[in-house]
Amino acid sequence: MSAEDLVVRVDQTRCIGSGHCTNTAPDDLALGPNGRARPLRPISTDRDLLTDAADLCPVEALTVHLATTGEQIAPAD
Ligand code: SF4
Repeated sequence: MSAEDLVVRVDQTRCIGSGHCTNTAPDDLALGPNGRARPLRPISTDRDLLTDAADLCPVEALTVHLATTGEQIAPAD
């Protein structure tokens, strides 16, 4: 596992399906049958796009973490 590896998490109880994140990072996120976003792969690497996606989420449902440590890198506290 690389230090650049990222894990995306979506809180299904918060997501309102706005699509901000899926439009910003379509390789990593898509709206599921329930109308809420879900990660498309277990490990992601595009830190810039995923950080933007997390920052754009209107309800702070999307968080990005380092795969190695679990540390949250976006959105920033
Ligand atoms: S931006 Fe937030 S609320 Fe909108 S689809 Fe993504 S996780 Fe859900």
